[in-house]
Amino acid sequence: MAQDHNMKPPTSFIPQPYRVTDGFGGPDYGPRDVMRDRENINMLIPPATDNGLLPNLKMSFSDTHMQLNKGGWSREITVRDLPVATTLAGVNMSLRPGGVRELHWHQQAEWAFMIWGSARVTSVDWQGRNFIADIERGDLWYFPAGLPHSIQALEGGCEFLLVFDDGTFSDLNTLSISDWFAHTPKDVLAANFGIPESAVAGIPNGQVYIYQDQVPGSIESQEVQSPYGTIPLSFKHSLLSQQPIVTPGGTVRIADSSNFPIAKTIAAALVEIKPGAMRELHWHPNNDEWQYYLSGQARMTVFGGNGIARTFDYRAGDVGYVPFAMGHYVQNTGNDTVWFLEMFKAPRFEDVSLNQWMALTPHQLVQSNLNASPELMNSLRKVKWPVVKYPQ
Ligand code: MN
Ligand code: MN
Repeated sequence: MAQDHNMKPPTSFIPQPYRVTDGFGGPDYGPRDVMRDRENINMLIPPATDNGLLPNLKMSFSDTHMQLNKGGWSREITVRDLPVATTLAGVNMSLRPGGVRELHWHQQAEWAFMIWGSARVTSVDWQGRNFIADIERGDLWYFPAGLPHSIQALEGGCEFLLVFDDGTFSDLNTLSISDWFAHTPKDVLAANFGIPESAVAGIPNGQVYIYQDQVPGSIESQEVQSPYGTIPLSFKHSLLSQQPIVTPGGTVRIADSSNFPIAKTIAAALVEIKPGAMRELHWHPNNDEWQYYLSGQARMTVFGGNGIARTFDYRAGDVGYVPFAMGHYVQNTGNDTVWFLEMFKAPRFEDVSLNQWMALTPHQLVQSNLNASPELMNSLRKVKWPVVKYPQ
């Protein structure tokens, strides 16, 4: 078979844990999983700069339990699967047309990104003000901790990412309306609603979670007027229609409490990295970073101080994690554009660029500290964070 070097290696390509640059390593005779080795080439053949004992910072949704229901499915990545990720947990969910994530609430705030399709979400706050909105691709929603809500797919169905501000959260362990009904004495339910006990005979006998319903009518046809009005701070934000920060290597859209005021505990950035480009060396001075890769393939090295660094490969459907303040970059290693989300349990998105730090420090000090070449010193520039750049 003729080899086209512009294409990915053929499926017959068997990588070996041998580093050509220094001759370290040797062949792997097996047993082995060659497909996974190909996907995790920086794990199989770590850069010579990798060192030390950073914990695992990668988990794929493809390696999680899939909860299949009539009407849709869900899967999640929590501290059970990725123990380092204590600040945030993520759920990937898909609903068929009319499929419903039932009325429920939980002790954690819920942030969401609509990956594909559309859904109708509802909520009510503690003052009796209600919220109902249709969510399209690229939109966010945010439900503060403790407030009840529901999600129903519109025509065409939908898939979305949910992020919760607690790594121990599980979407299979929330407070659901059906579960509460099932575990309340029937005479109490009857007394609560002022109806005979026979009128609650047909309720579900346990948690429904996700179920199939009809596609709902227009939002106007479903409107419920609350005497207390609607929720003043919108639970919805259109992230993708937001004007991005445009850089030579890609784009960035940031949503945090500065432009999405209700999102007080989760800040996020939607980052686009073009082929050949990278999200430059940087860190975050406020909290850990939880990443979700939407498309393409990338590598990230996380630097943990004291000579410790570890490199991982990511692709669509993977979750990455960076502990608080550790240095990192994200480099597009494929032929397609990388789109990924970075999330922080924080009110604001904060980012420190290595390049900018150096540019804004007395240059003589920077030069002597690193024995920096004139080329390196000349490359320093004052930048507006965050920056996705092409290597020069
Ligand atoms: Mn929820
Ligand atoms: Mn980052």
